[in-house]
Amino acid sequence: MKNYYLYFLIFLSIVGCSKSDESNKVEEVVDQFEQIFSCVDYSSLLNYQTTDRDNLIQYWNKFVEDVKCSGSGGPDFGEQTKFLDIFFEYTTEAQVIAGLSPGKIAYSAFVGYCNDERVRIGVLYDEWSDLNLLERLWVMYHEFGHDVYKYEHSSDPTDIMYPASTRSDIDLNDFIRAKDRMFERKFSGIRYISCPDPESEISSLTHNH
Ligand SMILES: [Zn+2]
Repeated sequence: MKNYYLYFLIFLSIVGCSKSDESNKVEEVVDQFEQIFSCVDYSSLLNYQTTDRDNLIQYWNKFVEDVKCSGSGGPDFGEQTKFLDIFFEYTTEAQVIAGLSPGKIAYSAFVGYCNDERVRIGVLYDEWSDLNLLERLWVMYHEFGHDVYKYEHSSDPTDIMYPASTRSDIDLNDFIRAKDRMFERKFSGIRYISCPDPESEISSLTHNH
């Protein structure tokens, strides 16, 4: 979105300086930035003036709406999810000293992705706060990919399920292409998390990112 504002400024300055035969140039600038189609509008999550940056539920609501209207229409995960638990964790100094794994931003757990009725995602507040708004959208969809679709990580950096979730070079179109592939279950190296025996100890393990 930073790029958006940059283009917008360029656009304004061109309009401001030359009112005559420069209109083609203006169109070019605007075209670079045309958003590809998505059936939901992400602007409420990507506005640096108005987005409530600490509201995690809005990402879930957008995701549910997005799945339902994308392609030929996906399942209603809002209806299916009886237990919705998306929360911030605030790291203490003790945890930092004990060595919390670096790069960890959010996590889901077997208790969520191995239970169709439950979504449970923790987000580390400090790390979250360092992300820009598009990265936050990307990270939350990544977690929903684990929890709802039971996806394992992808090795393709253009996929939402790629583990390095903070890619500062992504733009909104990259995100839309990636989420479409994710919803359609069409991305390279797609793999599913195998759920453990519900009685086993392993069900308490978490899956980082
Ligand atoms: Zn992950």
